[in-house]
Amino acid sequence: NLSARLTETFKNLRSKGKLSAADVDGTVREIRRALLEADVSLDVVKDFTGRVRERALGDEVNRALNPAQQVVQIVNEELVGILGGEQRRLQFAKNPPTVIMLAGLQGAGKTTLAGKLAKWLKGQGHTPLLVASDLQRPNAVTQLGVVAEQAGVAIFAPEPGNGVGDPVKVARDGVREAEAKHYDFVIVDTAGRLGVDAELMRQAADIRKAVNPDEVLFVIDAMIGQDAVATAKAFQEGVDFTGVVLTKLDGDARGGAALSIRSLTGRPILFASTGEGLDDFEPFHPDRMASRILDLGDVLSLIEQAQQAFDEEEARKVAEKIASDSFTLDDFLKQMQQLRGAGSLKKMMGMLPGMGKMQEQLDNFDEREILHTEAIIQSMTKAERANPKILNGSRRLRIAKGSGMTVTDVNQLIVRFEQAAKMMKTVAKGGVPQIPGMGAM
Ligand code: GDP
Ligand code: MG
Repeated sequence: NLSARLTETFKNLRSKGKLSAADVDGTVREIRRALLEADVSLDVVKDFTGRVRERALGDEVNRALNPAQQVVQIVNEELVGILGGEQRRLQFAKNPPTVIMLAGLQGAGKTTLAGKLAKWLKGQGHTPLLVASDLQRPNAVTQLGVVAEQAGVAIFAPEPGNGVGDPVKVARDGVREAEAKHYDFVIVDTAGRLGVDAELMRQAADIRKAVNPDEVLFVIDAMIGQDAVATAKAFQEGVDFTGVVLTKLDGDARGGAALSIRSLTGRPILFASTGEGLDDFEPFHPDRMASRILDLGDVLSLIEQAQQAFDEEEARKVAEKIASDSFTLDDFLKQMQQLRGAGSLKKMMGMLPGMGKMQEQLDNFDEREILHTEAIIQSMTKAERANPKILNGSRRLRIAKGSGMTVTDVNQLIVRFEQAAKMMKTVAKGGVPQIPGMGAM
């Protein structure tokens, strides 16, 4: 999937100090493939990768301390941009009621959304009225009634047994009812078809004309993939809409549809629906969607914090040493000392994806351990620190005596050092970043 591919791509980048044009091109190619596989439309992909490539080869990356990180940031920024930048709020009518019309294919989640919106608005002190203009399916009105009851809001529906109702008339009467009874929001639920069809479009367009809504929300199932674009375009031509609601984001869909719809229709995504329950609903945040698509946890902010705690040059030197297999006990000690200065270590760990186990180890982390480690390493000769392999039994005994620790302590420290060195190598190869020296505690 999209997220896994991008993560893989960034892992490969992460191990590089400086990026070449070939690196950038390779990465951009991977991003392109990942987006296409996630059903983002070709035009959007081209546009997107073009911008990322241009920026990635530019000065901001050249000057960056960590070029790969900078590329991740660029991709993130461009994703947020493509998703609409800032969050757009619901437009309220100058004179209530604010009329919101829902449109979309059958099964997209319109009726459910009507309930979610109503409940959400009610929670903010509004008085929404649901209007049942889906008279296509026999139980559509009943379904809206159930939803209204769950949300604790009023519903306007045609009298049962009044023959086949006219959805346009119901919509118009519903708005009048709201005006008369001073409801400040009207949510008009409409019929959908399994596929786009002319009659459905005409009916929706007629309802729109009749009630002149402040918002027409196009509701679309995020799982429908490439079809999302064609459907969205058909609705834009047939009814036009002022905003988009993405539903079923609780499924596997990573949001490729979101990327396409926003940029191809120019209409903002206003809400995200994430389940069948009425509370599974939230205003759409482009930045959150971008991190969902990238799936990098809060890696960006983690790196920012880590950069403050570690001396950049030092970190780079260590990385070089690991790469050349010469990570020494001196480096190990230096890192532990820097970590102690980092302070917010635990907070940092919490922000890494999949770090639950490390958290546990941190809870057992003892400040005195660092002092003992310092004592032991400082009792070693220069040669021993640079090349721990020469630490035989008699040397270990001497070190233990010199530092006031036991031989077991010395042995344990060396085991920890070896584990840290191994972990650091994993990091250098692009694995999950781990804090050196924490491994065996
Ligand atoms: P409509 O035909 O557009 O009115 O769609 P409905 O509101 O009747 O929803 C169709 C089905 O999708 C129902 O079973 C809903 O419970 C379900 N549904 C709606 N929104 C979501 C969502 O965000 N996540 C999930 N998992 N199911 C949803
Ligand atoms: Mg419905």
